[in-house]
Amino acid sequence: MSAVSKESCAWLGLGGNIGDVKAALQQALRLLNTHPEIAVAKVSPLYKTPPWGVEDQPWFLNCCAQIVTNLSPEDLLEVCQDAERQGKRERTVRWGPRTIDVDIIAFDGVEQVEQRLTIPHPRATQRDFVMIPLADIAPELVISGKSVGDWADAMDSKKLELELESKDWWQT
Ligand code: AMP
Repeated sequence: MSAVSKESCAWLGLGGNIGDVKAALQQALRLLNTHPEIAVAKVSPLYKTPPWGVEDQPWFLNCCAQIVTNLSPEDLLEVCQDAERQGKRERTVRWGPRTIDVDIIAFDGVEQVEQRLTIPHPRATQRDFVMIPLADIAPELVISGKSVGDWADAMDSKKLELELESKDWWQT
């Protein structure tokens, strides 16, 4: 894994709706934080999002995190995908599989459109469950010409419920 010399900030969106999602998100954030080239700087509150479309499925839990890293965006994606794989691992038959997604929403100074990695994340600004938690930790961050705070203000926040308000829920 190659490290770039410059430290960059990046913003991640995490979520899931199968199994013990809070535990899976905590595990993913801790895993990222123990990586030698990554420090988790801020984590948003944890939000609960009702399913839409197919309503016969569990509610989602979502959060966003700001990290500082020496990794390139591509190497960071690999670490995020490792965290997803660990979260999806079936631990016991009783508790079944866990599903977790870890997306790169934005990365300092990077704009690229590639199938493997598009930054900013192409659908992030349309998703209330990304923009609202992201606005809690990075309201001034500009994505696609508009601040995250402005994107969040334009969203229907009534659909989201606060699950855990404390900023260190992922560490406790
Ligand atoms: P999904 O299953 O929706 O999480 O999509 C994962 C796929 O999207 C992977 O194959 C990634 O290589 C690709 N991808 C493209 N841009 C991004 C991004 N900004 N963050 C995470 N995955 C991305």
